[in-house]
Amino acid sequence: AKETGRGCAIIYHPDLDRQREKIAALESELRRALQKDEIQPVFQPLASAASGDITGVEALARWRRAEGAIGPDAFIPLAEKCGLIDILGLQMLRKSIVASKAWAPLSLSVNVSPIQLCNLNFAGDVLAVLEEEGFDPSRLTLEITEAVLMSNPEQARRSITALKSAGIRFALDDFGAGYASIGTLREFGFDRMKIDRSLVQAMDDGSTGRNVLTATISLAMALGIPVTAEGIESADQADALRVAGCDQLQGYLVGRPMGRDELVSWLASSIAA
Ligand code: C2E
Ligand code: CA
Ligand code: CA
Ligand code: CA
Repeated sequence: AKETGRGCAIIYHPDLDRQREKIAALESELRRALQKDEIQPVFQPLASAASGDITGVEALARWRRAEGAIGPDAFIPLAEKCGLIDILGLQMLRKSIVASKAWAPLSLSVNVSPIQLCNLNFAGDVLAVLEEEGFDPSRLTLEITEAVLMSNPEQARRSITALKSAGIRFALDDFGAGYASIGTLREFGFDRMKIDRSLVQAMDDGSTGRNVLTATISLAMALGIPVTAEGIESADQADALRVAGCDQLQGYLVGRPMGRDELVSWLASSIAA
């Protein structure tokens, strides 16, 4: 039992009991959802900053739930807590790869939990999926957040090294939102940095936000690491980020996350335009 500062065992609080019951119910629901294939990827386009061309997509998990939507910000941490993230992550990888065959040769980015990365089987599992689906490893980028907080950095490094030697690339996600530092980029051999939406938004607040953003991008570029900016909603933001040196843009300005078929027709119409 966890103790609060005043010494009362919070475990006995009735509200917390209810809270725990709700989480347990959601947990078994998530387990069923995975068995019934209710977790599906949607795909958000990534654009070249220089040309505006779509060069890839990022897969984002969605839970098609009859009782109302739950976002990945809620169910991914739940899956991590109850030991379902490895299965969920591999399902997402396989489904995303299968769908991505429809828009070859665009790159595919898939989010990976640090917990998956520290699993001894992770690298082997990923390579097996690529092999089974006949997918070119050099089309795949794995996105990871909070690398500094990884419980087992040695195992994480081994997974990354094994997958990188197979041609898979790694992006450090949500840079500027968590604890990851420029040092993290080098330490784990990341191939790309993704600037968090919060930094992109801070740009609109004035020159300090803009300076922090510009300095961050310059540092990555000095290390030879290309930068993607996420959460771009306005043309002003896109212009400033392009000038600052980002080579890839992502956000509602470029395109929203879309289902497989929607993306195929969106790509066709954006090429025609
Ligand atoms: P993320 O990897 O940083 O993904 C970007 C999030 O920003 C997505 O939220 C996307 O829908 C949203 N977004 C993109 N452009 C814009 C924009 O212009 N404006 C605004 N307001 N939002 C934008 P989403 O899909 O809710 O995903 C939330 C987070 O959940 C992701 O953040 C990622 O950390 C996690 N996640 C999603 N799918 C997976 C998955 O398959 N595995 C793992 N481990 N995590 C996932
Ligand atoms: Ca991501
Ligand atoms: Ca991100
Ligand atoms: Ca995020």
